[in-house]
Amino acid sequence: MKVLVINCGSSSLKYQLIDMSNEKALAVGLVERIGIEGSILTQKVEGRDKYIIETSMKDHKVAIGLVLNALVDEKNGVIKSMDEISAVGHRVVHGGEKYAKSVVVTEEVMKELEECAKLAPLHNPPNIIGINACKELMPNTPMTAVFDTAFHQTMPEKAYIYPLPYELYENNAIRKYGFHGTSHKYVSNIAAEEMGKDIKDLKIITCHLGNGASVAAVKNGECVDTSMGFTPLEGLAMGTRCGDIDPAIVTFLMTELNMSADEANTVLNKKSGVLGISGVSSDFRDIEGAAAEGNNRAKLALDIFNYRVKQYIGSYAASMGGVDCVVFTAGLGENAIETREEICSGLEFLGIEVDHEKNNIRGKVKEVSKDGSKVKVFVVPTNEELVIARDTVSLVK
Ligand code: AMP
Repeated sequence: MKVLVINCGSSSLKYQLIDMSNEKALAVGLVERIGIEGSILTQKVEGRDKYIIETSMKDHKVAIGLVLNALVDEKNGVIKSMDEISAVGHRVVHGGEKYAKSVVVTEEVMKELEECAKLAPLHNPPNIIGINACKELMPNTPMTAVFDTAFHQTMPEKAYIYPLPYELYENNAIRKYGFHGTSHKYVSNIAAEEMGKDIKDLKIITCHLGNGASVAAVKNGECVDTSMGFTPLEGLAMGTRCGDIDPAIVTFLMTELNMSADEANTVLNKKSGVLGISGVSSDFRDIEGAAAEGNNRAKLALDIFNYRVKQYIGSYAASMGGVDCVVFTAGLGENAIETREEICSGLEFLGIEVDHEKNNIRGKVKEVSKDGSKVKVFVVPTNEELVIARDTVSLVK
């Protein structure tokens, strides 16, 4: 069975065609600049040169049509016909309280997704556009929706209710939802497998550290808390997002600095985080480079980022009454050797001890804690597409 996984952003689209008989990606692709000048599709197939299509793509339907063409292309494709695609799994950012699990897309589900779009106005609309475009082009192929928020629906009320008037939760659905759920679920399961233990017997802290970053507390296989909140703005300092700040700063920006709501939103989402602190870049490699050359603000940005991850690890160890394993994943978690070491330094009192030599790796599953460390530390490359494909198979079978 072959499953197409689609992750639709506002002007980009990532895709993978996965052969579920061996869970290997047959083709991995990225479409960029949809609806703007310079649209480009890049498809990678193992052992071949990149296949690049540069042509105008006025909308997501055109882009998905080109993705399907690229997959069946006689010379550069990986399948003979679209009929070989048994199902399509769509990443959907927000499933609200309605979806604690992935679902087959029906008319009813589409209506619910439109409802959830109010909660994620930046993310859900492109996801919905992607599903609709696929439905038009492949009307007989089953589709599923796999939600970033679903894994976090097991959080207890004390973790997800904000100390705000309760009516804002009841009437406006304002609560913590959490994001990156597929990633936290995947890497916590791999870490348990690596430890040779049942995840139901473990307390795991997963650190998804990429341009967007979040930490989750996974107790007995279920999420009990996570750092992102009502939106993906809460929690850690990120590439361009501020994470936890005093909410009074927002009203101060608006009343004292005369910013509009849109302007304040842009500051918090696009101009803050390590970009805002360093003034250098949102990319950690640039910031590390600048810090190494003596740029103090770049160094400060890295210190703040690491300090906040460390604080969340301590906090979640407290939430769970202990911790057996810490997992690092995503661009930075998988690759940034010093970041992992910095975050864990000073956490020896919790039994977290990183081995300098073992930690000198990038991008592969590996235990990096010292022999005898009470808490095991793992690097686990995330694979959200595989989780989406697996959920899709189990739903459409
Ligand atoms: P993601 O959002 O998961 O793709 O992660 C992107 C972030 O990971 C960017 O800020 C990159 O700078 C960072 N990253 C990727 N590779 C490395 C590396 N080798 N060292 C440090 N940071 C890295």
